[in-house]
Amino acid sequence: MTRMRIALAAAAAASALVLAGCAGGGGDGTEEPTDEAAPTFEEGTTMAELAEAGSITVGTKFDQPLFGLVGPSGVPEGFDVEIAKIIASELGISEDNIEWVETVSANREPFIENGDVDIVVATYTINDTRKEVVSFAGPYYMAGQSILVLADNDDIQSEDDLVGQPVCSVTGSTPAEKLAEIGAEPLLTDTYTNCLEPLRSGQVVAVSTDNVILAGLAAQNEGEFKVVGEPFTDEPYGIGLALEDDEFRNWINDVLEASYEDGRYEEAWNSTAGEILPFVEPPTPDRY
Ligand code: GLU
Repeated sequence: MTRMRIALAAAAAASALVLAGCAGGGGDGTEEPTDEAAPTFEEGTTMAELAEAGSITVGTKFDQPLFGLVGPSGVPEGFDVEIAKIIASELGISEDNIEWVETVSANREPFIENGDVDIVVATYTINDTRKEVVSFAGPYYMAGQSILVLADNDDIQSEDDLVGQPVCSVTGSTPAEKLAEIGAEPLLTDTYTNCLEPLRSGQVVAVSTDNVILAGLAAQNEGEFKVVGEPFTDEPYGIGLALEDDEFRNWINDVLEASYEDGRYEEAWNSTAGEILPFVEPPTPDRY
């Protein structure tokens, strides 16, 4: 596989000299650089630190089909997971050297702030409140809040029908805030799968979060639930990282754009969420 190079030209040139010096061959400078040579980064950057360590800790969801779900293999699978793998590979880090940490909606900022994870790729909406404590690369996908109901419920068609009704969502999520704003009665738990039992039992009339999460839950529980109405918010998904690590943020944005160009983004989509959801052209990263 050809590894795309996203490193400072100066650093790359310096490293080429070092590599040639270490080659131990004739030292005649005729060695062809190989595609598999480790990428090099400017000293002191997060990229250099991670590449040097040879591992990265990634926060993702463990119970969200299509985006981040731990199955029988014991490692998470999904579109967010594939996005993290693309980033890791650009650091010269193989899949086996990614440490996956479960993040739920409410602990994503603290996990980044405390250094428990290097990045979070977890259906994570970029917004100004969160940008006060973490930074975001991306967006790499545009989702929108929607509604999940029992398959035989025809009473709820849009967010207007949620007013005054008990609706399940997750603490620390943007949909939970929106539900309160529109006058629903949010019942909050820690993960979206934990909303399914209250929906089955009638404790709530709906579950509300991003359309793509709900589509995954509906597909996982065939015939039981359906997604209704049109998305009624914008949920631009970003990659969370330490606040003001601008070099790392810009570099991840470069990696995203390169993956759009060379087909890896589309491949990541098609092999995961794309099994259920249509491919849409990715958004341009917001280089704030
Ligand atoms: N994208 C929304 C958020 O980041 C909802 C999904 C989630 O909680 O992961 O809050």
